[in-house]
Amino acid sequence: MKTIIQNGTIVTATDIYKADLKIEQGAITAISNHFIPEKDDHVIDASGQYILPGGIDVHTHLAWPFQSTGTADDFVTGTQAAAAGGITSIINFTNPKKGQTLLDNLQEWKKKGESSLIDYGFHSIISEYTDHVLEELPILAEREGVTSIKLFMAYKGELMVNDREMYKIMKKAGEVGIITSIHAENGDLIDELVEESLAKGNTDPIFHAYTRPTITESEATGRALAIAEAANAHVYIVHVSCADALEKVERAKKRGVQAFAETCPHYLVLDESYLALPDFEGGKYVCSPPLREKWNQDHLWRGISSGLVSTIGSDHCPFRFEGQKTLGRDNFAKIPNGCPGIEDMFSILYHYGVQEGRISLQKFVEVMSTGPAKLFGLYPKKGSISVGFDADLVLFNPKIRREITKVKQYQNLDYNLYEGTVVQGAITRVLSRGEEIVRDGIVVGQKGRGQYLFRKKVANIEKTVTS
Ligand SMILES: [Zn+2]
Repeated sequence: MKTIIQNGTIVTATDIYKADLKIEQGAITAISNHFIPEKDDHVIDASGQYILPGGIDVHTHLAWPFQSTGTADDFVTGTQAAAAGGITSIINFTNPKKGQTLLDNLQEWKKKGESSLIDYGFHSIISEYTDHVLEELPILAEREGVTSIKLFMAYKGELMVNDREMYKIMKKAGEVGIITSIHAENGDLIDELVEESLAKGNTDPIFHAYTRPTITESEATGRALAIAEAANAHVYIVHVSCADALEKVERAKKRGVQAFAETCPHYLVLDESYLALPDFEGGKYVCSPPLREKWNQDHLWRGISSGLVSTIGSDHCPFRFEGQKTLGRDNFAKIPNGCPGIEDMFSILYHYGVQEGRISLQKFVEVMSTGPAKLFGLYPKKGSISVGFDADLVLFNPKIRREITKVKQYQNLDYNLYEGTVVQGAITRVLSRGEEIVRDGIVVGQKGRGQYLFRKKVANIEKTVTS
């Protein structure tokens, strides 16, 4: 049986045009001005709607153990929320256990991923340097299709690696075609600032922001980029939150470093003042890096427009308010660090970006889908609308206005970060490999239908170190 989508407006990172789509066996097989459906064809009328490539969220923490607790969404609720929010592929972080090999750890995560409703892959986090880790990298890339890793420069004792270890890991990653993602914050400096703050009795959520000032992010970003340059490796700075750090990325790119930046929806529309909300409401907004002073947002939007920012990731790291965020009611350092975002990223970016005139619709597609697909080895199978691509599609009605609320969300949470926000546009249908997984805004896809994403290596890079 074929599926025909008629009368829609197709949007890619470069084009907007009206055409019909033909889908067979999960892939787009033809695009034409008009198809005449046959008797058995499944016909979808997309009049008045955009047809966009499904979102690719390369920054998720589903089923993630962290800071004495674990994230509230597993691969079922998390990927239902993703689907409802127009995301058709995710790359989730693993989280290694002490002494466990990367490959053993990956098998555990692949098992968890089997309940996923959408396609899923993994970035392996390396939190413990050993020579063995270096030997595993080529196997991860060749045999498992895991072509990205992640290193942390903060969370000492839990995830943090030092500069020398970063260099050795990045160098090997560069050699074998793996891109290294970096959480760039100066962990040692932050730990000291936190201790100072608590000693003075400053325990409210706002002090989470004050103890992680932008210099702690920009310094680490600059250091990671320098190490990547020395190691001749592709580097991806996750969740860039501020102008200072973005400047470091810009400088490195000019030097020829294969450097890429991601930002997240919350840094684009929320700011530091949310952390100061009364009655511990601020706890809901604790994530790292923290929300910044509002003026940074213009720099981030401009970075998206100019191509300095390559992708938007949700950094979906959800914790319930009652029982999880409240662990830190008397001490901000005990609030689990993370915010939800997988369900609302698409809508938030469309509304504040496209609707309010900050970015073009094509740019929206680029950072939401095409950019992440290219950087993380999924192109040209995912990330655009063209013959031969998977039919991962979002039908979007730009005329509907709707209110974001926890009452209607799929995220397994007792709050929504954007509660009460009215956004322009609504996702009406989502197709994953041609199968309708969202219809009339309701998730209808079955858990476990998602497929593991075996990803390609990043392209070999020229030597970038300048003398
Ligand atoms: Zn994250």
